[in-house]
Amino acid sequence: QAFNLNQVISNLAEDIQRTTENHVLETNLKTIPAVFGDKDRIEQVVINLITNAIKYSPHAKKIIIHSQQMDDEVIVCIQDFGVGISPQNLPKVFEQFYRVSGEMQHTFPGLGLGLYISSEIIKRSGGRIWVNSTEGKGSSFYFAVPVAKSSASSPVL
Ligand code: ATP
Ligand code: MG
Repeated sequence: QAFNLNQVISNLAEDIQRTTENHVLETNLKTIPAVFGDKDRIEQVVINLITNAIKYSPHAKKIIIHSQQMDDEVIVCIQDFGVGISPQNLPKVFEQFYRVSGEMQHTFPGLGLGLYISSEIIKRSGGRIWVNSTEGKGSSFYFAVPVAKSSASSPVL
């Protein structure tokens, strides 16, 4: 199924913005082709990443959602300026039931499933998911999904 991922992102950003007064969701969406995948599931991934960005940035207002095309993929980045993740915890965040331990665990409730589910969805869509983060500075979660074939390179007749 081919769909417009920018449309999904803008609608979600608008809906989620209405649920929070402490954060400002910005979008930086480049012109992208239709992507291939399960729209509802990929929408769930974007929700998981935005709600994490909000949850783990209690003192930082801004969250930026970027999208752009790179070759035959569309890359989405959800960037926050919150608590960040230490280098030793970073490789584990996509594991099932993994939560960064310590004080953080009590401050922010959760099951440790959101990122695991997100990474399963993205892998099954033929995509990739990864993260860059600096403790105390913030995190950028990225995912890439394939461009829908018909919009990638076929000539317009
Ligand atoms: P839930 O199952 O409700 O999503 P969760 O948010 O704890 O619970 P994940 O979304 O899988 O679980 O995230 C796993 C862990 O990764 C979190 O507990 C948190 O420690 C860390 N983490 C995830 N997103 C961020 C972020 N944007 N900034 C800092 N830490 C994060
Ligand atoms: Mg979560």
